[in-house]
Amino acid sequence: MVFTPPSWVPALPFDPPDSIPISQFMLDDTYGRCPLKDSRNPFTCGLSGKTYTALEMVDRVDYLARSLAKEFGWHPNKGTEWDKVIGIFALNTVDSMTLAYAVHRLSGIATPANAAYSDSELEFQLKSSGAKALFTCMPLLETALKAAKGAGIPNNRVYILEMPKEFSGTQSVLFQTVGKLIDAGKTLPKLEALKWEKGQGAKQTAYLCYSSGTSGLPKGVMISHQNVIANVMQIAAFEKPIREKRPGTGSEVVLGLLPLSHIYGLVVIAQASTWRGDGCIIMPKFELQSFLKAIQDHKIVTLYLVPPIIIQIAKNQSVVSKYDLSSVNVIFTGAAPLGAETAEELQGFYPSWKIRQGYGLTETSTVVCSSPETDIWFGSSGSLLPATTVKIVSMEGVEITGYDQPGELVVQSPSVVLGYLNNDKANKETFIEDTDGKGRWMRTGDEAVIRKAPSGYEHVFIVDRIKELIKVKGLQVPPAELEAHLLTHPAVADCAVIPVPDDAAGEVPKAFVVKSSSVGLEENDRMVARDICKHVETHKARHKWLKGGVEFLDVIPKSPSGKILRRLLRDKEKEARRQK
Ligand code: AMP
Repeated sequence: MVFTPPSWVPALPFDPPDSIPISQFMLDDTYGRCPLKDSRNPFTCGLSGKTYTALEMVDRVDYLARSLAKEFGWHPNKGTEWDKVIGIFALNTVDSMTLAYAVHRLSGIATPANAAYSDSELEFQLKSSGAKALFTCMPLLETALKAAKGAGIPNNRVYILEMPKEFSGTQSVLFQTVGKLIDAGKTLPKLEALKWEKGQGAKQTAYLCYSSGTSGLPKGVMISHQNVIANVMQIAAFEKPIREKRPGTGSEVVLGLLPLSHIYGLVVIAQASTWRGDGCIIMPKFELQSFLKAIQDHKIVTLYLVPPIIIQIAKNQSVVSKYDLSSVNVIFTGAAPLGAETAEELQGFYPSWKIRQGYGLTETSTVVCSSPETDIWFGSSGSLLPATTVKIVSMEGVEITGYDQPGELVVQSPSVVLGYLNNDKANKETFIEDTDGKGRWMRTGDEAVIRKAPSGYEHVFIVDRIKELIKVKGLQVPPAELEAHLLTHPAVADCAVIPVPDDAAGEVPKAFVVKSSSVGLEENDRMVARDICKHVETHKARHKWLKGGVEFLDVIPKSPSGKILRRLLRDKEKEARRQK
């Protein structure tokens, strides 16, 4: 049995265009966006106030594309997209999307990397993606340079996205900035118009984001231009009847705090909102007081957040209540589950706020379902977006036909991505063609149930995660990556990493370790554990640190084929916590 969107959800007004880049869909009035001249300024720096109109952004993208073409010898219609990959390793800036679109104007690919990455993590992504240049910002320059060196990107192919002074400090004169490239582009010759074949936008990668999927190491997720266009259109169509019911419908001001390197920030916040004509207030980092001040100063209406920030708002009322948050109408949360209790607690403080939850993945170019303002059910991730179909499949592979029965959520949508880069095995496991050749499904690795709401409409509840992934503050921590790293420590003979619950972060990684024979009997377990934690802290981004601790075991439970029996470890952990 398949589940489809409820009857109130409008269909897509037209098929997502398949022969243009996402940049054109976003910056050209032809394809249904809010007219550029009526649009709010797409991106405004929440700290410095630096901003550009939508029409200015069109020019800036054009000038930057001209400069990049000269700088790299790239031509919009020559070479493949894989010859024109750039890495973006930066905190959010007002020009982050200008840069991505300029690369798309040249038929290239942007691969955004998490700003929290260590040099080795970034180097992995740069090598895996084949990035030819790296765009960073001053606070991350040192890490960027180390990674670029490791990936064979010379220093003259490292560029800076400008940031407000309090973040960037003194601008290094050794590196070219995006602002200067834009200025230089004004006097360069115009670029040839794109000559894309019919269907090229459906086949060509626009963004290469990294996700570990259901298992293993991070993999390049090939997100096509049409995938992103589809999700922007799906979100807009879903929101249309909701916005029409709101007083003062039209465009609004939204918060651009979440990293634009993650699919939620990249598609939902930076693209779906600005396509509707919203103005996005860019914030480079979360810090409670500057976050609250930005809401107050910019009269932000919609806050795109993740559960840990919602918890901070609920738990810090003595600080939060000093700010005027009366402009806020909607809180939108995603990337990790928001418990019903937390939502209720927040609602108690702000009865008028609509607290909405969305669910999605990098592999679906973000949103699969979302709670409509008119049918909010805490704990649920809402209703399916237009053109989205899901199945629930039991562990035995049998399709579930009724409500309230858990199974793996399997999705069909025009936003389901092209696949993982150079990874046939993961592609075969994750993306499944129907035997009749009529459809392509994506296995999410999430356990869900469909329930009927009091409104009569079906809602999706994500009840557990079957896949290996750990989500810390909404960010991915692939256990296999940490396990591979732990095995490079001399004290570790074998190991397994699992998620354990954490009030602030949602969950954090915990390692079970079998000590190697090199560890002397006289060595204190606490010291060995500390050293293992340090080994992670030195090489991995902060959200991957072993905040759940290290526990020593004699043996890691494994199946006869050698697969770690994570479920057993998770059950063991649950039992230990229950007894505490
Ligand atoms: P990412 O690709 O980093 O966006 O991670 C996608 C994963 O985040 C999903 O497969 C889920 O495990 C988790 N996730 C995203 N949104 C939600 C949600 N609303 N509730 C529960 N888990 C979520």
